[in-house]
Amino acid sequence: MVQVHFKNAATVYDVGTIYCIGRNYAEHARELNNPVPQSPIIFLKPAASLIFDGQSVVIPAASGDVHHEVEMVALIGKIGKRISLDMALGHVAGYGIGIDVTARDIQQRAKDKSHPWAVAKGYDTFAPVSKFIPADGVADPAATDVALWVNGERRQYGNTRDMLFPIRNLVAYLSTIFTLMPGDLIFTGTPAGVGALRAGDRLRAVLGDDLVALNVDVKQEPA
Ligand code: ZN
Repeated sequence: MVQVHFKNAATVYDVGTIYCIGRNYAEHARELNNPVPQSPIIFLKPAASLIFDGQSVVIPAASGDVHHEVEMVALIGKIGKRISLDMALGHVAGYGIGIDVTARDIQQRAKDKSHPWAVAKGYDTFAPVSKFIPADGVADPAATDVALWVNGERRQYGNTRDMLFPIRNLVAYLSTIFTLMPGDLIFTGTPAGVGALRAGDRLRAVLGDDLVALNVDVKQEPA
């Protein structure tokens, strides 16, 4: 069982389903020449793709174009189905920062054939995630900075106020389809600035004003 931890608390959750939201920032949709969606685009990652602070993203030999997508990640703490907008944030136990690692070339081929994104999004190590801050430690999850540095250079910077579907809407919407369970994670989509990773890169993702940080490096799987 893969577990996630809190920054300053002993609480531990066994990870259930990892939900991810595509194109949740208009500028990112535009940078990949995608239309802005009318409802959230949902895909999943396997729990085995999670890695944590101090570990390494491994670029698979099968891809020549692996991208970083920094994203706020919500941890569900309470079971719910058809959760109202008013109750939605009460189902979130905490917030962290994650990187939705994406094999862009494999994703593009899948899009071209109308195939699912599972392979492009699901390799081992493709879901680095930080420790979590208890929900009441994040002043406003709908107005929180997300940022990513690569080798000391800031490559992505956004604020969750620019989400097309804010976190409370995502929780409510997902729960119209899926029963959300304690330990489920929601990768909430990436702001603009995605780009390619190379072996040796050092990534630092930060939520808010240094609420929590995630440091990982990048390795290449031998051919
Ligand atoms: Zn993403």
